[in-house]
Amino acid sequence: MYRYCICVGMILKAHSLRALWTVSVRNCSLSTSTLNQHQPLNLSSLESKAFVDGQWLATENQFAVTNPFDESVIGLAADCDKHVTLAAVESASVALGSWKKTTAKERSKILRKWFDLMISQRENLAKIITLENGKPIMQSDGEIQYAADFLDWFSEEGKRTYGITIPSPNPNKRMITMKQPIGVVSMITPWNFPSAMITRKVGPALMAGCTVVLKPSEETPFSALALARLAEEAGIPRGVLNIVPCSRVNVSAVGTVLATHPSVAGVSFTGSTATGKMLLKQASSTVKKMSLENGGNAAFIVFDSCDIDKAVSGAMASKFRYSGQTCICASRFLVQAKVHDEFISKLTEAVRNQLVIGDGMNPNTTFGPLINQQAVLKMEAFLANAVKMGGKIVVGGKRSSVRSTIFEPTILTNANVSMECLSSETFGPIIPVLKFETEDEAVKIANQSTYGLAGYLFSEDVSQCWRVAERLECGVVGVNEGLISSAEAPFGGVKESGLGREGSIYGMDEFMDVKYMCFGV
Ligand code: ADP
Repeated sequence: MYRYCICVGMILKAHSLRALWTVSVRNCSLSTSTLNQHQPLNLSSLESKAFVDGQWLATENQFAVTNPFDESVIGLAADCDKHVTLAAVESASVALGSWKKTTAKERSKILRKWFDLMISQRENLAKIITLENGKPIMQSDGEIQYAADFLDWFSEEGKRTYGITIPSPNPNKRMITMKQPIGVVSMITPWNFPSAMITRKVGPALMAGCTVVLKPSEETPFSALALARLAEEAGIPRGVLNIVPCSRVNVSAVGTVLATHPSVAGVSFTGSTATGKMLLKQASSTVKKMSLENGGNAAFIVFDSCDIDKAVSGAMASKFRYSGQTCICASRFLVQAKVHDEFISKLTEAVRNQLVIGDGMNPNTTFGPLINQQAVLKMEAFLANAVKMGGKIVVGGKRSSVRSTIFEPTILTNANVSMECLSSETFGPIIPVLKFETEDEAVKIANQSTYGLAGYLFSEDVSQCWRVAERLECGVVGVNEGLISSAEAPFGGVKESGLGREGSIYGMDEFMDVKYMCFGV
């Protein structure tokens, strides 16, 4: 339908692009009919394919994707190279011409259909997440709802990207603003939320009128392709959304195209701080609009004035969701002296009794594996360092006997700020607890970090809640609450944790420029 609407010039341009692409994408074959809505949405149907220019492209090279629970190979993913990525950027550039001219209402209908398809396929999509990243299936199901919520939210929010009229200081001038799409956007997404991190970016970008080239994490390419398949079924036109999975071998070449190509107007990234900083440097050569959600190292402050049971359930929810592998997981536990022992004792009991360790595919499991062996080695190194510096392990502290990629939920007391598990992003199930005496001391320690994504505090003293929440140097604060993410709320960090905000009423801004127009009268 969409292709019929575009002008003749566009068609010619699209055709010449196709000719160029056929030449440049060597060693790949096109298969428009290999995937369609009548096939079941399962992982094997997505093997060895990239989604470029509305086509399912089989690449010559593939890479293995493994299940973190038993380390078995679950499928072979397409390993896109620089040439495929260039073709995807070209395709997104061509598609931009007509996509940005569609009305927000038209785009909203497509997004809403995509949302409906996600919900109707939630079981299959959740299974793909668990197979790829080991997340307990009930949490994967929750992620699908959360991911779909971004499409629902932005399908509405994107209809309200209003400009303003400005009271002019000059009687002979009239001043107004309007918002316009920035253009083609590159997106690079992580493995910990393989669906939600895609819709949180793609939803607002498409609603803004931008087109997208997205590189998913090499650990979780199939979730991205499954979403693309539903996007295609929902009617997202050819070239508007392109997915280019690649292995670590090609990531630097693919990333360089995405961050430096002159046709790309913006880069939206979620991942490690090191990669975020590198992309920022690369993108500076052509001054792209950057949206970065880097790492975090959230302080979790428990004050004497708290309700201990609330603090314990907040800690369990924040720390052990996906085995501690979320960017906003509580990381540095600061507990005031008077409640310290009681908090540790109740938390230890909760860790012992509330978590069901095992294979994420089992619906009873609440605590599964880490993403890979390196992640487990990192936990072991953190603990060795902490114990050497006087830390005491209260519970856990080693690999689980269930599987070698599962690291037991761990509580470590007597922690201090020199330990690696406090100074670096943990990204695993270790709770290092540092005892403090005064509010000022806690705030000072919490802010002693180059990160500034999330922070948590537990107190029943309402003045203290306001005071500390305002003083914490981070983008997101949970007050007496451990689960804080939602499509309606802004997500993003300060300091080295990132640039920009995703979700909420602010999420559209990452993909729109404000144009000011001055009319002489
Ligand atoms: P993690 O260590 O948690 O996987 P990364 O920052 O390495 O965090 O990964 C987040 C995303 O960034 C993934 O999609 C990954 O492939 C991508 N990535 C890693 N290195 C580069 C790079 N040099 N250029 C572009 N993207 C990269």
